[in-house]
Amino acid sequence: NTSQPRLPSFLKHPIPTGKSYTAIKKDLRDLKLSTVCEEAKCPNIGECWGGDKGTATATIMLMGDQCTRGCRFCSVKTSRAPPPLDVHEPENTAEAISRWGLGYIVLTSVDRDDMVDGGAAHIASTISKIKQKSPKILVEALTPDFANKGFEPITTVATSGLDVFAHNIETVERCTPFVRDRRATFRHSLEVLRFAKETATANGKEILTKSSIMLGVGEQEDEIHHALQCLREANVDVVTFGQYMRPTKKHMKVDRYVEPAEYVKWKEVAEGMGFLYVASGPLVRSSYKAGEFFIENVLK
Ligand code: SF4
Ligand code: SF4
Repeated sequence: NTSQPRLPSFLKHPIPTGKSYTAIKKDLRDLKLSTVCEEAKCPNIGECWGGDKGTATATIMLMGDQCTRGCRFCSVKTSRAPPPLDVHEPENTAEAISRWGLGYIVLTSVDRDDMVDGGAAHIASTISKIKQKSPKILVEALTPDFANKGFEPITTVATSGLDVFAHNIETVERCTPFVRDRRATFRHSLEVLRFAKETATANGKEILTKSSIMLGVGEQEDEIHHALQCLREANVDVVTFGQYMRPTKKHMKVDRYVEPAEYVKWKEVAEGMGFLYVASGPLVRSSYKAGEFFIENVLK
């Protein structure tokens, strides 16, 4: 069966407007900073950038635009040998972010399996430079799984001064081999999250850990429960749920469009299991309004 379910109306979104949104967008042009929010045409940009600048959230992609992996849901280009890192990226990114003045920055990156440390030192150096220049800003890193590189890269990132360590399991255990690149496993991703909290704590750093699940890729209800249990057992603090959207026809199909009521249910289930915060909705992406929530509730 090659047919796709029809796009329901709750997945169509308004064009963003608002004073803060327009100002943030103008600053960006001047700073020559590119964001995932704009490049991936994220449906949440109006909400993430629309409120007060001090709690606004933006996501920046580090280490280039070519990934050594090829997950079946992701629109980033794949390359076995991406170009070398820009050694000035940590400094330039930190400088631009400090002039931009947002409250919350999410740093994400492609996977760099071609590098000995998977790029961990580059990510950590960007974080510490951001914190030097903007001590008040909150930084979340959405990290690769650093598979086959040992635990050191996780410690490097988790103790770099970040506030939130995020790594996405993306889906339930059974669907993982189909949805993610074959080098990624459900078990290893849980290990990354568990170890990040452990190593940060052992080094005297307080961090929150966070993971995201896309719905609509073929998962079953009991499998979602299982994934949530595994995340709690790995001491993960925050979880988000959102709908998988197919970037192009070359990517895997959407299995189903999940009704808004089901997101409400998963939020309640996850909160009942002890997650500190749960963002759940059809258009929610892993960084959805993170600033507003973390600044106002958790990290004050
Ligand atoms: Fe996309 Fe990340 Fe998978 Fe690379 S590892 S293909 S950036 S989801
Ligand atoms: Fe940017 Fe993430 Fe918000 Fe989308 S959800 S606008 S990518 S910060």
